[in-house]
Amino acid sequence: MTGTAGPSTDPARFYDLHTHTRFSDGSPMAAMVSAAADAGCDGVGLTDHCVLVDDEFGRRAQYDLVETYARRRERIDDLRGATDLRVFDAVELSYVPGTDDEIGSFLGRAGFDYAIGAVHFAGEYGYTSDASYADADDARIRAAVDAYYEALVALIDSELFDVVAHLDLPERRPVFRGVSTPAHYRAVADALADSRTVPEVNAGRVFESLGRVHPDPDLLDEFADRGVEFVLGTDAHTPEQVRRRVPYLREFVAERTELATRSLPPAVDDGTAAENRAAATAARADDRPTGDRPTDDRPTGDRPTDDDGEPDT
Ligand SMILES: [Zn+2]
Ligand SMILES: [Zn+2]
Repeated sequence: MTGTAGPSTDPARFYDLHTHTRFSDGSPMAAMVSAAADAGCDGVGLTDHCVLVDDEFGRRAQYDLVETYARRRERIDDLRGATDLRVFDAVELSYVPGTDDEIGSFLGRAGFDYAIGAVHFAGEYGYTSDASYADADDARIRAAVDAYYEALVALIDSELFDVVAHLDLPERRPVFRGVSTPAHYRAVADALADSRTVPEVNAGRVFESLGRVHPDPDLLDEFADRGVEFVLGTDAHTPEQVRRRVPYLREFVAERTELATRSLPPAVDDGTAAENRAAATAARADDRPTGDRPTDDRPTGDRPTDDDGEPDT
């Protein structure tokens, strides 16, 4: 703990650190920030999806924050002038084991305020749809869930991220429900206890079929016993979801007093993230004479993507 932690760790302050705008599969940025203000938040993190590598599911083209983050940053800077909230320029990046160098290089270059890492797919397995498991036998389902937790532990061990998203994501899908085991959770808790990466309490499915936060509240004590702290995120894709889920998370934290929650990730609290961002900005400025920088010149603004009304991630 440094001397600069200050009021950002004040438990009375509430930051929703996980939201999506139209730069991925969410809603207009100004509406998301307004909703966070309406919900009484002190700040909101804009964490659009980012996929660095091609995957089996074609998400690279859909979630191209890698090419639009500079344009998004301009929008965020404009918004900051029009709100009292702290608005964080952040990301939810899909972690793929074996691509640590690419991820580290991109995050260093982009210099986000903080980075959330998430496992949405691992190799041949995806966790945001049941579609490809219609004919799967139990062994394949278990193999998919094992692969999820292996990738999640690799994400945490990579030390690339400030926050790790929705720890038990497969549980939100009926095909995977109940397949996660205590051994899976222990492996995750052990990894978290040794990592700078902080997990989140994620409200993305509290009013949908899952009916609870990620991770399973029955297991939160086990994490707390190891000194694992949590940050909070609605994972909202619409303003209505922000308004509904923020009060839920406030109540959840008030009731689960044994749970160690913190307002912001450690690197944001202690200024490390800001230093990293300044270094990234300086590095980009050094690149400018030689760099071909097409991403600054994109003619488009917000880039709405297909939205089926039920974003899965
Ligand atoms: Zn998300
Ligand atoms: Zn996600």
